[in-house]
Amino acid sequence: MSKYWSAVVQGLTPYVPGEQPKIDKLIKLNTNENPYPPSLIALQAMREEIGPGLRLYPDPNADRLKQAIAQYHGVSAQQIFVGNGSDEVLAHTFLGLLRHDRPILFPDISYSFYPVYCGLYEIAYNTVPLADDFSIETAGYLQPNGGIIFPNPNAPTGRLLPLDRIEKIAAANRESVVVIDEAYIDFGGQTAIPLIERYPNLLVVQTLSKSRSLAGLRVGFAVGHPDLIEALDRVKNSFNSYPLDRIAIAGAVASFSDEEYFQRTRAAIIATRDALIEKLEILGFSILPSAANFILMRHPAHDAAQLAAWLRSKSILVRHFRLPRIEQFLRVTIGTDQQCEAFISELDAYLNASKNSSG
Ligand SMILES: *Cc1c(COP(=O)(O)O)cnc(C)c1O
Repeated sequence: MSKYWSAVVQGLTPYVPGEQPKIDKLIKLNTNENPYPPSLIALQAMREEIGPGLRLYPDPNADRLKQAIAQYHGVSAQQIFVGNGSDEVLAHTFLGLLRHDRPILFPDISYSFYPVYCGLYEIAYNTVPLADDFSIETAGYLQPNGGIIFPNPNAPTGRLLPLDRIEKIAAANRESVVVIDEAYIDFGGQTAIPLIERYPNLLVVQTLSKSRSLAGLRVGFAVGHPDLIEALDRVKNSFNSYPLDRIAIAGAVASFSDEEYFQRTRAAIIATRDALIEKLEILGFSILPSAANFILMRHPAHDAAQLAAWLRSKSILVRHFRLPRIEQFLRVTIGTDQQCEAFISELDAYLNASKNSSG
């Protein structure tokens, strides 16, 4: 705290991202990155972009990228907003579309950045409890609100809400904006993008960080009615006119052209996830149904914090949230088959050691 800080900054509780250790040789299953490298076509496009052209500012509207995304998703470029990671897209959404008189709604267990944006932009919110099985309860989103936001699949639960439920929420809230944060949709869900034609209050946000292996590039986008997109553009053009640099635009455009690689890597993660869940269940863990590139798991007889600490001592990082209802769970990113095998064999060793010491 310093006397030079503004009152807003003094009151902030910033988001704490998962650890990005500077040590090599760790098995990093803590921040939902993709274990596979970016598309070779995307990497090549970025290399080609490095040259004298970097002297010049990038296209402030990233039109080439909007075209590529529009074509990929069968919408028009006027329905696309792009930003420096979906976190930036979300931030502009909170300021431009969710800051009204009434409190906004999101689940009690959800992406922990949402309350942080509410703090930054002084937006009131109410949380809607997840059901006992940790699924999103549609009924809770029928009360008056200033907007609604949740990830689908939800994070950190991994649970998917079917598209007909999303439509029900959008249809019941025509006076406010409903934001679906689809950071993990490519790992087993169906995108709500086709619904934007019928629901001008629906905004769908996606990222290239997870399913396209480009977390380091910082590219995210929103799809919705041009009126919603215009609000985001107004915020962006009052904040930073060039959120995407030339290299990011080139890499992101090329990524959408490499459909074969995208399909192959996301299928690999889905297959690894389903095999991992089976093995964990054999070891006695309970795992929530996941449509994401991570799982939320617990063991009825072992403390989550102790398990996480022990895994860390074996160079395996997972995420443990000290939060109500999920303090006995670990969130584990799906790695390669090899990484997941190492994870399983360390857990197996832990369970055997504790069996022997207690018996
Ligand atoms: C990872 C994640 C994001 C942020 O993605 P970036 O595009 O890397 O900023 C947004 N929402 C959820 C739910 C996420 O898990």
